[in-house]
Amino acid sequence: MAGVEDRVAPQTTNGAPASADDIVVTNPATGREIARVPDLTAEQVAELARKARAAQPGWQALGFDGRARIMLRAQKWVLDNRERVIQTIVSETGKTYEDAQLAEISYAAAGFGFWAKNAEEYLADEKIKASTPLVAGRKLYRRFAPLGLVGVIGPWNYPLTNSFGDCIPALMAGNAVILKPSEETPLTSMLMAEAMRECGLPADVFQIATGRGATGSALVDEADMIMFTGSTATGKKVMAKAAETLTPVSLELGGKDPMIILSDADVERAANAALYYSMQNSGQTCISTERVYVEAPVYDEFVAKITEKARTLRQGDPSGGPGSVEVGAITFPKQMEIIEDHVKDAVDKGAKIVVGGHRRAGDGTFFEPTIMVDVDHSMKAMTEETFGPTLPIMKVSDAEEAIRLANDSPYGLAASVFGKDMKRAEQVARRLEAGAVVVNDAMLNYSVMELPMGGWKASGLGSRHGAGGIRKYTAEQAIMLTRFAPKKDLHMFPYKAGRTKLLGKFFGLLYGRGKRD
Ligand code: NDP
Repeated sequence: MAGVEDRVAPQTTNGAPASADDIVVTNPATGREIARVPDLTAEQVAELARKARAAQPGWQALGFDGRARIMLRAQKWVLDNRERVIQTIVSETGKTYEDAQLAEISYAAAGFGFWAKNAEEYLADEKIKASTPLVAGRKLYRRFAPLGLVGVIGPWNYPLTNSFGDCIPALMAGNAVILKPSEETPLTSMLMAEAMRECGLPADVFQIATGRGATGSALVDEADMIMFTGSTATGKKVMAKAAETLTPVSLELGGKDPMIILSDADVERAANAALYYSMQNSGQTCISTERVYVEAPVYDEFVAKITEKARTLRQGDPSGGPGSVEVGAITFPKQMEIIEDHVKDAVDKGAKIVVGGHRRAGDGTFFEPTIMVDVDHSMKAMTEETFGPTLPIMKVSDAEEAIRLANDSPYGLAASVFGKDMKRAEQVARRLEAGAVVVNDAMLNYSVMELPMGGWKASGLGSRHGAGGIRKYTAEQAIMLTRFAPKKDLHMFPYKAGRTKLLGKFFGLLYGRGKRD
């Protein structure tokens, strides 16, 4: 992985001249500057939106086949250029090569193929059968029309998956898209804009608005729909802003995903899964396992196994490439303050750290993989999103206590349950308040593009993937076609007592018959 930083050498983009307000992009694993990008003003975002609206009708007119052709080329581009994409992701996030390959490259490659293949079917006209005889003989359809301009606002933890990934279905639906990546990680999005141009996407159909929060806010004013991924606090601001123009929003927000280990679980698999799904991407995944509840009979065995495994994790600058480290850097420097605060708060209230527990000295932003026990719900580590490589583990007397504690959270993104008795494990799963629940696994459901992924409670509104994951980028339209009809229907003017009574009898016959209590 030599030369990562040469490849993304300091640059400005979008044709804007370098200025003192430029955003400095830093490699969090080294602390070194790797690029500068412009901070677009509201006027510049409005100009991008004007160009996008001019380009969108031509893109829509290409039809599903024409659009799919470009997406399939882009799928190949991502695979052919995967080293370059991975290096860009690794250098701006500090994540490992493996995390970039598994959760970003494979997601984008799958996404291009999935939406190219399925968009047309998900958005095809749906024939509706009416139950009312008032419209007998009419043809009825439900139709999905592109909205026009979709704004995607992305976070820094998955610059390809969570920022660019949402643009694929929005584009396949026939919209123009403006993506506002996080100011921490704009380079992957810019690389994808270059890729889409190379693959033949018409000019201005997909544009990047680099900038800070105000740039995102300006995009909310311009777009016909906003897909937002990030914190619950910012999601609320985006929704409030969108309310001013009645712009629809889809929000994928924070989580505090619980894992429940039942007493009949395969403890070895549960320990491997808990470690991986809490430490993968340095715990900076919205559906990271953030807390574990273990039934008392297997608690000691589980803690012993995960402790031993956590001690073997290698952490550091991931620029050594494949196989060099398991845990990378903390992408967003401010996140370090939250992680340290949660660990300190837990220790102050009686938690015991069995592995890790500290910020690492030296270059880059690293927090040691950390396992905590003797935790409870008075601690922030059990109730607030930590978004770091930390895992608090709590002993519970039984599944009832685990369910009660798992649901004791403002969040409801995802959850997991481990147990060999599938019936019992599924019963527990169905009682958890979360948009996705997985038995004897975690997080992998995200790779199933047919399966909806969205949060309950403070974890969001709307969902990704499946039919809902593309229909949200459209305006639903009801079409009724009347071909054969009399000159005048019975209910039209002028009103006459006889006809009114006849209609009354008709409704009585229609809805008044049949048995009921
Ligand atoms: P934010 O929610 O603040 O940022 C997400 C995106 O929204 C970024 O592109 C950000 O721009 C932009 N933004 C910020 N303010 C506004 C605004 N007023 N209007 C429109 N867009 C805006 O997340 P952070 O990056 O600050 O992370 C904070 C917390 O969010 C983390 O600690 C973590 O708990 C959680 N998080 C959750 C994620 C998830 O996948 N659900 C992903 C990332 C974070 P900019 O970056 O330039 O400020």
